[in-house]
Amino acid sequence: MAQEREVTTTITATTTVTLPANPTPKTYAELNPRLKPTEFFGPIGGGILTFVTPIVAYGLFYGCNEVTGCSVPPKRNVLEWIGDWPSSAGALWDWKAAGVYLAWYLWTVLCWAILPGDWIEGTLLRDGTRKTYKMNGLWTFMLTLGIVAGTVSQPGGVAAFAWIYDHFVPLLSASLAMCTFQAVFVYVNSFFSGELLAHQGNSGNFFYDFWMGRPLNPTWPGFPNFDIKTFNEVRPGIIGWVILNVAFACAQYERLGRVTNSMWLVLIFQGWYSLDCLLAESSILQQMDITTDGFGFMLSFGDLTWLPFTYTLQARYLVFAPTDLSIAACAFIVALEVLGQYIFRSANNEKTDFRNGRNPKNLQYMETQRGTKLLTSGWWGRSRHPNYFGDWIMAWAWCLPTGFSSPIPYFYVIYFGILLAHRQIRDDEACKQKYGKDWETYCKKVPYKIIPYVY
Ligand code: NDP
Repeated sequence: MAQEREVTTTITATTTVTLPANPTPKTYAELNPRLKPTEFFGPIGGGILTFVTPIVAYGLFYGCNEVTGCSVPPKRNVLEWIGDWPSSAGALWDWKAAGVYLAWYLWTVLCWAILPGDWIEGTLLRDGTRKTYKMNGLWTFMLTLGIVAGTVSQPGGVAAFAWIYDHFVPLLSASLAMCTFQAVFVYVNSFFSGELLAHQGNSGNFFYDFWMGRPLNPTWPGFPNFDIKTFNEVRPGIIGWVILNVAFACAQYERLGRVTNSMWLVLIFQGWYSLDCLLAESSILQQMDITTDGFGFMLSFGDLTWLPFTYTLQARYLVFAPTDLSIAACAFIVALEVLGQYIFRSANNEKTDFRNGRNPKNLQYMETQRGTKLLTSGWWGRSRHPNYFGDWIMAWAWCLPTGFSSPIPYFYVIYFGILLAHRQIRDDEACKQKYGKDWETYCKKVPYKIIPYVY
């Protein structure tokens, strides 16, 4: 048996990486095997999603806004709206809005570069190395919100943010341009860089690989420490989401002279969700997006355009359809949010603690051949994705403040249910591959997929 030996390599001034004992050198082709496209219905699914998802993002605006209303089916022809728009809110492109968006993106890059943050090691990669990631999203969030609060409280501040509401579509277009640029760049660059590829982004089919993401951990040439994927995951999009919501509250204030309780609920719930994500920023390093998925149009578009411009639909709707909720309705919605947040956070904490070698609740677990253990009691004994269940309950609490005049603001809860059900299938497949027979045993012990005793 070969003698075990540890190799430690210094990769930044502050971190070291421990490689596996006697790593077997592998060629580029061995590390990056061509795999059959199996996810999202293959190349056809990837191609369709690349074209359809931006159309849906625009459609949610053109089908639900101050001018046309939010009715199903729509009262006017969509193409008519695009050509006949009374303000720049509906114009597809505006250079000032593009400049504002670019400034926002560069601001988050600057914050990444200059604000303090810990460098945290990610998962062990197939080539035996680990990447390190700068975690200072929380500081970026706090500093940005401080500036936003300071600006809004100044004379003219409310109008300055309401400008965002009036330029929603051109800002969306600018984010789409940026995310397409990123996706094209990393795709082309991955053919020349010799970098590690994502398994499910290396099928050889352009439509599939472009959607799924070919490179696993792309960086900009000359900036090897700037990881494009983790940067996109939590900064311009998640923080931008909160800023868009604030802008919509400002637009409502301009129209009504006050902010409704329904708007406050949406602002607080979604702001809390973003803060929670940034407080646990390093936990993204364990997520499928970072460990397994490549960076392609799916993540670039999802992070920069889809998340901020569609998750804000409820707050945008409340600008032109303000709703005053009764105390009983508020109490019910708050209770729902608290329940969802409790399940989401306690389930995620149980797993994060356990993966970090702690088990404060003394939960039961099973050993596996792979070496990592699986929890079989607590939240992870009730279903295989209790965190998704909590997340989905919160989704209801974010939509209910919009009332029942239109079904369109409930888009999020429906889309998110589909996303989570699909994500559960993807993760289940990945776990089958990781754990083999042990996963079958775990599934027998924990038969429910997401909702305990139901699904
Ligand atoms: P999870 O956080 O659920 O992680 C899945 C992984 O956990 C598995 O691959 C496995 O990895 C490990 N695991 C599975 N079962 C067990 C067990 N019994 N005991 C210990 N470890 C287990 O998945 P996601 O990365 O998909 O989601 C992370 C969070 O992000 C969730 O809370 C989700 O709701 C949220 N989310 C939000 C989105 C949004 O747009 N708002 C979109 C997507 C996700 P291993 O064993 O290798 O550690």
